[in-house]
Amino acid sequence: MHSIYTLAILICLVIAIIFFLSLLYTSITFWRENEKRATFRALLITLVLPVPYLLCWYYSWEIAALVLSIDLLLTLFAFAIPFTTTKNICGDFPKTQIDERDIMFSRNELKVDTERYKEYYQNHPDKEELDSKFRKEAGLLNKESIFYNSMAYAASNASFFAVDQFKNAIDGPVNPVKEKISQEKMLIFLENWGKKLGALNVGFTKLSDYHYYSHKGRGDRYGEEITNHHAYAIAFTVEMTQEMVAAAPQASIVMESGQQYLEAGRIAVQMGQFLRNLGYSAKAHIDGNYEVLCPLVARDAGLGEIGRMGLLMTPKEGPQVRLGVVTTDFELPYMKWKKNNSLLDFCNRCMKCAEVCPSQSISFDSPKLVNGTKRWQINSESCFTYWSKAGTDCGRCMATCPYSHPNNLLHNSIRWGIKHSPLFRRIAVPLDDFFYGRKPKSANMPSWIPQKNKTNLNS
Ligand code: SF4
Ligand code: SF4
Repeated sequence: MHSIYTLAILICLVIAIIFFLSLLYTSITFWRENEKRATFRALLITLVLPVPYLLCWYYSWEIAALVLSIDLLLTLFAFAIPFTTTKNICGDFPKTQIDERDIMFSRNELKVDTERYKEYYQNHPDKEELDSKFRKEAGLLNKESIFYNSMAYAASNASFFAVDQFKNAIDGPVNPVKEKISQEKMLIFLENWGKKLGALNVGFTKLSDYHYYSHKGRGDRYGEEITNHHAYAIAFTVEMTQEMVAAAPQASIVMESGQQYLEAGRIAVQMGQFLRNLGYSAKAHIDGNYEVLCPLVARDAGLGEIGRMGLLMTPKEGPQVRLGVVTTDFELPYMKWKKNNSLLDFCNRCMKCAEVCPSQSISFDSPKLVNGTKRWQINSESCFTYWSKAGTDCGRCMATCPYSHPNNLLHNSIRWGIKHSPLFRRIAVPLDDFFYGRKPKSANMPSWIPQKNKTNLNS
């Protein structure tokens, strides 16, 4: 009997020590991430929580064991109870195509008093007044914008300049001698080579009309109908650096966007040329030269879901990625898209991006029917107007998203909990708010970038 007691005491002690060490690890992780508020709160809990337990222990180890058992049972309960998840938060497949001329980048390129400008707003009179708002602002990477930073803007411009040099390499002659390659070999090669080139994840999908824009909205082919669709696509993500994104909407975000558009563009151009070398038609879709809606292609290729902020959210890096797509006539093997309900369910509850958006462009509502499909839609006009004022592509929503926390044991465990437990998803949002704040402040830009903001952040 005595030995059973000793064993029970030992087990309780070991569990208590593991629990304490986990809390300590959480505090250290926050401290290493330079999250002062989260570190302070986690440390406080680490020091305060063991007190009642130790007091129980002091009076009777049985009470301590009981307290511990209740703790453990509650934890197990959180993961085991099958709370239901709404299955159809968002719809499946869009019913219509989008015209690229309607997206903000295309509208931004319309020069006042030109034929193109007149024609567009004659056909869309409702948009002219909306667009006049962003036209009154300084504009992206402009000296008069809020977050002007000469070196950071010059670096961003250099990246966008570099990606623009790829525009003549997105397509090209196809080798008339076609090499016979099995689907399996191609999949293994592209997945591994893609990662070696710098992609984070690579996926494949069969394309439908809704993946393609109906008409070109930028460049020399403006207004041209997009035909000759390829039947398959390779989609991939490239990761944005945490410290550059965390300071959003300051200038580091637009530096990082430019850098990762360039990375995605380079990889897409290489993959496209690779397929053409082997005798298959292929086209790279890169910044400023898209014929497809990359987030939709990437979603259907199994890389993530389109969240409240309208961006692709990957299960591990959240929205902190940029996308690249290569379309081809090589019959790629692909998995049928399976909706990630846990991610959409979390997104439906969280709303943190809507809370921090400086232009209130993100809705707090559940997804609504847009062109026949249930989804979230941001107010792209007010978002772009803020970009034009800020001079950067803002990214405050991206930086604040709980999925954007760094890739480490602590956050990966939380992502695991979010994925597997509906109850944990309910707890995770208030927990994130408790540690980071409902409206966390922007971080400072990395110290090697001169800090020259004209305005007070977080105002
Ligand atoms: S911040 Fe929250 S609501 Fe917004 S995209 Fe991320 S998970 Fe979804
Ligand atoms: S980029 Fe900025 S302005 Fe646009 S939706 Fe996100 S937070 Fe709002």
